Amino acid sequence: MIELADNPIVAEAAASLAQALAHPVRLQILELLRDEGAYVMHMTTTLGRPKANVSQHLAILRAAGLVVDEREGMTVIYRVRDPHIFDLVDCLKAVAAPPAEPGQSHCRGARRQARRAGPQRNCRCPRCRCGG
Ligand SMILES: [Zn+2]
Repeated sequence: MIELADNPIVAEAAASLAQALAHPVRLQILELLRDEGAYVMHMTTTLGRPKANVSQHLAILRAAGLVVDEREGMTVIYRVRDPHIFDLVDCLKAVAAPPAEPGQSHCRGARRQARRAGPQRNCRCPRCRCGG
């Protein structure tokens, strides 16, 4: 394991990633990308935010190298570049809202609870329209 004290460049890169994560909407977006990624339309519907706002946050996540976008016909799907980021998101969640059982590992508890949200009833993205 790399020691950050000996690797200022790695420490800098890690801090940049943390900075890109440091917004509630960006954490919510990342969680929506778990497993198969998500369409922009799905994110705007699920989060109840305007497309311009979601796109702005996606641009920050993309610039940080956390997500990639792929054109799929008329629409764009976003995916995480490295699923390791979900370990971090799950740990942040668990520390922010610790599990009830004492002595349980924060991160392991969060990972067990983590599951992909099903199709949104009011979403018209290709995946929800076809029943997920
Ligand atoms: Zn959808």
